[in-house]
Amino acid sequence: MSVDLTPFLDAVPDDALEAIRGAREALIATHENPDADTLGAALAVELLVARQGGRATLVCSDPIPPLYAFLPGIERFRTDLDEGATHDLLVVCDCGTLDRIGPLLDRHRSLFERLPRLVIDHHLSNGDSGAGHWIDPAAAATCEMVALLAARLGVPFDAGGGALATVLMAGIVMDTATFAHPNATPRTLAISAALVAAGAPLSEISRRLYRTKPDAQLRLFGRVLDRLETAHEGRIIWSTILESDFAASGADPAHSEGLIDLLAQSERAEVAIIFKEVGSTTRISVRTKAGGVDATVLTGRFGGGGHARAAGATIALPVNEARPVVLAEAERLVAALGR
Ligand code: 5GP
Ligand code: MN
Repeated sequence: MSVDLTPFLDAVPDDALEAIRGAREALIATHENPDADTLGAALAVELLVARQGGRATLVCSDPIPPLYAFLPGIERFRTDLDEGATHDLLVVCDCGTLDRIGPLLDRHRSLFERLPRLVIDHHLSNGDSGAGHWIDPAAAATCEMVALLAARLGVPFDAGGGALATVLMAGIVMDTATFAHPNATPRTLAISAALVAAGAPLSEISRRLYRTKPDAQLRLFGRVLDRLETAHEGRIIWSTILESDFAASGADPAHSEGLIDLLAQSERAEVAIIFKEVGSTTRISVRTKAGGVDATVLTGRFGGGGHARAAGATIALPVNEARPVVLAEAERLVAALGR
């Protein structure tokens, strides 16, 4: 079966094609606390660069969580740059701001800012534009964009012994929750059909990303869900992940991934918030219902961002101090809906 993607290929800017074609020593960066979309996009871009005769180095500020070990090529990620390595292009995948790269950026800021840059991102809150910035908020995933880039470059999705189709499919499955979120469009589905036709193991990827958990993680979820609280007649729901929960459950910090999506299953709540204690700072994850509070407005008050329905931020306050401030703002935004 072949799926015709030509109606969608105009979305790829020419300067993105030229950057990939011309790269000889690309540096490809993901966001910190990586997920399958940022990792899949970076791995796919590496393959595209290699197919054009270039080489690439893959970097992520954090070690890769075991959940993503099944992605072909994942072992090539490093948490830092090689001393003295030279690069001629920086590709930044799935980062709403350059700061999302994390500590790596702080350590090598002058290099990162000096290199010609190609940003590939789908975050609505990404305010960057112009040459070297390909931002498409209509894309469900950065991997959806990279799939179009591959098609424009004439690289078949079965390239790399099936690796290209698998890593791109993983990013799309991650960011759409296997086509369950409203961000999955006819274009997302057409691209996904082409990836499956090229051999992407869709069902297996979905099982690994969404329906496989260590028992310690299930125990962590139990603890955190058991202490959920609500406000504003149930229209706001929240819970807190304390550092002590990890020791008590045997889970590790990456295992908190997915908890917010369970909390957001609340029938009544329009705004779901997870507060995660990270030393003397607090990470918030926010999910909101369609037509209600814009999650980027809430997280934006605290220097964060993301998408209208899913966003996050890091707040420089301990969790007990951050919580009342964020909840007051959430209350204000819910009240402003006027219903
Ligand atoms: P999550 O709650 O799953 O960590 O993040 C939800 C969405 O918000 C993701 O698309 C993520 O990229 C974005 N996001 C999370 N944290 C931050 C942040 O601190 N800053 C910005 N700009 N975006 C974030
Ligand atoms: Mn993404």
